[in-house]
Formats: sequence, C-alpha cells, structure tokens
Amino acid sequence: MTAKIFYDADTDPGLITARRVAVIGYGSQGHAHARNLADSGVDVVVGLREGSGSWAAATEAGLSVAVPVDAAESADLVMMLVPDQHQPAVYAELQGHLHPGDALFFAHGFNIHFGYITPPDGVDVAMVAPKGPGHLVRRTFEQGSGVPALVAVAQDATGKALPLALSYAHGIGATRAGVLETTFREETETDLFGEQVILCGGVSELIKASFETLVDAGYAPESAYFEVLHELKLIVDLIFEGGLSWMRYSISDTAEYGDYTRGKRIITKDTRQAMREILAEIQSGEFAAEWVAENAQGAPNMLQQRDRERAHPIEQVGAQLRQMMPFLDEQQTPS
Ligand code: NAD
Ligand code: MG
Repeated sequence: MTAKIFYDADTDPGLITARRVAVIGYGSQGHAHARNLADSGVDVVVGLREGSGSWAAATEAGLSVAVPVDAAESADLVMMLVPDQHQPAVYAELQGHLHPGDALFFAHGFNIHFGYITPPDGVDVAMVAPKGPGHLVRRTFEQGSGVPALVAVAQDATGKALPLALSYAHGIGATRAGVLETTFREETETDLFGEQVILCGGVSELIKASFETLVDAGYAPESAYFEVLHELKLIVDLIFEGGLSWMRYSISDTAEYGDYTRGKRIITKDTRQAMREILAEIQSGEFAAEWVAENAQGAPNMLQQRDRERAHPIEQVGAQLRQMMPFLDEQQTPS
C-alpha cells in the first residue's frame, strides 16, 4: 500500500482563512498552531482558562484570548490542544457552542477513537497531527519549512472535511514538509504503541538497564553515561539521516558485527511477545481505560513513578556531565 502525501500545491489556503479558528490551549502544540495560523493570515482566537499563566504570553504574541466557551462560540473551527486527559472536561463545557457546519479538530485521535468525546452529527471532525513537538512546529515555520503531519477525518458532515484539514495543515506549515492521510484508529494505536514500546518506554528501560549493568560491574558511572545515553543521540541521528544501513556504514566493522550477532539476544522472542501484548491492550481500549481511571484519581501512580525515575543515578550523573557541555544548551532549549 502506498499512502498519498499532500504538499502545498494540493491544498486550498483559502478554506482556512475563511474560518475563525479557536485554538484551545497554549502549550507545546497550541502556541505553535496559533502563531503559525495567525502568521498565515488566519483569524485566530486562543481559548484559555481564566487566570491561566499562558494568557499574557498569547496576548504578547498579538493573539486574541478568551475563555474556551467564548472562544468556541466566536469561532467556526475549534482545535483541541489541551492535554488528552483533560479534553473530555473541556469539550463538555464548549460542546453547546459547536453548530452545524462547524469543525472540531484534534492533534491526536485518542478521545475520538476510544469514544471519550462524541461530537454532534453536523460537525466535521478531523485531525491534523504534526509528527514533532510544538517548538519545532513553530521554529521550522519561521525558518520557511515545516514539520510533516498526519491528517484524518472521523466525521465528514460538510463533505469538505479533508480539504479543510489540508488547508489547516497548510496554515501551520505542515504541507511544506508533506502531509500523510491516515485514520483516527491508525494514528492513535500506532502513536501509543510507538511511545510505549520504543520511543519512550523501550528506550528508557534499555538506557537504564545497560547503565546499571555497567555500573554494577564496577565501571565509572560517567563512562557508562557517555556510552549508553549520550552516544545514543549520535547513532539515532545517523539512522534518521539514512536508515540502519547508513548507521552501520558509519560505525566500525567491530560495532557492526556486534550489532548483528548480539542485538537479537536483547530483543528476544519474549520481547516480541510483550510487544504484541502491549499492542493488544492498546487495540482493546484496555490501556486507554487504565489511563482515564488513573487520571480520575489524580494520577497517583504517574506522579510516584515520575519522582522515582527522576531520582535514578543516571539522572544525577547526567545532570553533572551536561553542565560541563554548555554547547548542549543551544540544541536543547526550544525557541
Ligand atoms: P501541553 O501540555 O503542552 O499544553 C496544554 C495546554 O492546555 C496548556 O496551555 C495548559 O495550560 C492548557 N490547559 C490544560 N488544561 C486546560 C483546561 N482545562 N482548559 C483550558 N486549557 C487547559 O499539551 P500538548 O503536548 O501541546 O498536547 C496537546 C495535544 O497535542 C494533545 O492532544 C497531544 O496528544 C497532541 N500532540 C502533542 C505533541 C507534542 O509533541 N507535545 C505532538 C503531536 C500531538
Ligand atoms: Mg507521537
């Protein structure tokens, strides 16, 4: 199957400039969408809670700000960019202000796909999900390029939901880089799988387990840190640039031989079985229900884990070593 990729020329920028867009939330994605759309000539209002710390920042950026209900009422397209676990509550407040012909947009399919938000029939429901953090969505836009994105339509009330989503993607700069059409199901399930199995869960555990193995065997924590965490970025950069083959071309023959002969002892049949089980928990909605229940109790497990993980020795030694590498600041501090 070859997926269709949309670029600037495949879009009608006029569809989004004909709308008033309420961007609800001004965090990582929210600030980037609101500012990029405004710079693209779109009429934008940012929806924030009374007393929100972001109110001043959005106003200083020249944006209009209103509470979510008022923002939604004055707009005919609402982009939901508060954290996923808070979206159902925010949606419950503003749903009465979605009128037939309006559009409700998301940057992640979680609440629609798992049924925690059910919009009215007359409203277009679509997703524009940049494949990168908000600060990159803003920075690349200012530089004249963009971050690739996924688009999907969950409900096509007007018959024009896809062109509208593509026009929105154009407004945030995503069609400069390429926009791939997908479904809410595919985006949601692959996104959760990726963050759990490799990007966040898998890689964090590999880093900690390899660090602990070296330190337990008597090697210096500083050496272990450089080997298993710092160098990971350099290797991932090569993979990102040219795939696994390019990385393997760049490393030594010794490293390449170790890769082929030892990697499969780390990712075993059991690991692959665990991946399938995690995917099944995502597909059945079991993970979603667990996360929703966790939040209903104030996220106690999440907060406890966060404290425990922050206290891990690799975090202590890493903080000290990074202080001695001031050049890292420039790369890490988002603009
Ligand atoms: P965030 O945590 O960075 O920002 C959330 C914003 O919502 C903040 O401004 C916060 O003050 C505001 N907020 C929280 N509760 C609110 C409420 N009850 N009423 C009004 N405002 C409230 O969130 P984010 O990471 O930008 O995520 C937003 C959406 O974008 C999510 O659906 C997420 O899955 C998706 N997404 C995020 C990324 C990313 O890299 N961060 C990438 C792609 C998609
Ligand atoms: Mg993701």
